[in-house]
Amino acid sequence: MAALGNLVAGVSHELNTPLGAIRANTDVTKRALEIVGARIADTIEADRKLGRSFETLRGICETNASAAARIDDILKALRNFARLDESKQKKVDLHEGIESTLTLLTHKLGDKITVERDFGELPRLFCNPDQINQLLMNLLNNAIEAIESSGRVTVRTEQVDSDVLVHIIDDGVGIAEEDLERVFDPGFTTKGVGVGTGLGLPICYRIAQQHGGRIDVRSEPGRGAHFTVRLPIREALQPPA
Ligand code: ADP
Ligand code: MG
Repeated sequence: MAALGNLVAGVSHELNTPLGAIRANTDVTKRALEIVGARIADTIEADRKLGRSFETLRGICETNASAAARIDDILKALRNFARLDESKQKKVDLHEGIESTLTLLTHKLGDKITVERDFGELPRLFCNPDQINQLLMNLLNNAIEAIESSGRVTVRTEQVDSDVLVHIIDDGVGIAEEDLERVFDPGFTTKGVGVGTGLGLPICYRIAQQHGGRIDVRSEPGRGAHFTVRLPIREALQPPA
């Protein structure tokens, strides 16, 4: 996994330079088109062929800009994935992580989604807090995105034996039976081209694994989804394999 991490980090770094060039050029082209367009506005109006070409060029700039933004999103997710090997380990209050993640998601919650907290007594957890927060962020994001108009997200925590359990439950669209075993596959998404990356859950899976824990899902179409993260309470993390 460490080798994969290095590869991803390297490739994503290499892709950044050409991506930057595409973004900058698209931006310059867009502005140049605006200037040229304003100068020859009358001609464009009179000449239908020229008018259509102008519209095509504008459209291409828009498409390129959103394609570049999309690549950027994927690269960010990949870099996050690659960074999982760096571990900064600390003893933290998991509920604080949940609260700060929810704060970051306030804008996505709106007033249509209610968040219910059902927090148990938890010991401070020895973990990599950045990774755990990312795991919470990905799961909560998915829960919110699964709710079409209005609904409820429940975050429940408990200690069971020597494990801490975090349940993230939503009453959204749910998961089709044939998809249940694929949701953790890298690249699997039902969110459509340009919307989902399919990298959220594989990252969660790996983070849970690196903490010696695991993550499970239960769901039925139309009846929401229930993700359970199980993390062992321990004094040190095992070095990455
Ligand atoms: P993405 O969110 O980019 O699609 P993820 O890896 O986070 O990628 O999730 C993969 C897929 O798993 C989603 O596209 C969706 O089909 C399904 N999924 C994940 N969480 C939920 C949820 N809470 N409710 C319904 N479906 C979910
Ligand atoms: Mg997701």
